[in-house]
Amino acid sequence: MIHHGGCLCGAVRFACAGEPINVRICHCRNCQRATASPFFARALFSHDALTIDGETARHPSSDALDRMFCPRCGTRLFTWRNTRPVVGVALVCFDDPNAFVPTEHIWVSAKVGWVTLNDGLPQFPENPA
Ligand SMILES: [Zn+2]
Repeated sequence: MIHHGGCLCGAVRFACAGEPINVRICHCRNCQRATASPFFARALFSHDALTIDGETARHPSSDALDRMFCPRCGTRLFTWRNTRPVVGVALVCFDDPNAFVPTEHIWVSAKVGWVTLNDGLPQFPENPA
């Protein structure tokens, strides 16, 4: 199964093969700032599973993680991990934004106070062990 997606302007398209390793909503401060949103919902795939078509730019938000985005429209598409061969793909950038459903919230210790979580999903203060 291949799931396709892309950025707002269409200059970057991508395809993910197979099922994700996990699907999580991250509330950490880096994700908040990098996405300019209260949280970042992403599906995690192996580097090998992701095919990118079009030019991307990247910014290292830490030694471990690069934020990849479309240099034309600015859409934050991917979180490329350098310490492990995995990449986070923004759920809402898939052509079907409901293709993957999150199964947990992580870094809720940094969650903003006006976001109320009532979806019943497990919540972890930081990364799950
Ligand atoms: Zn774009």
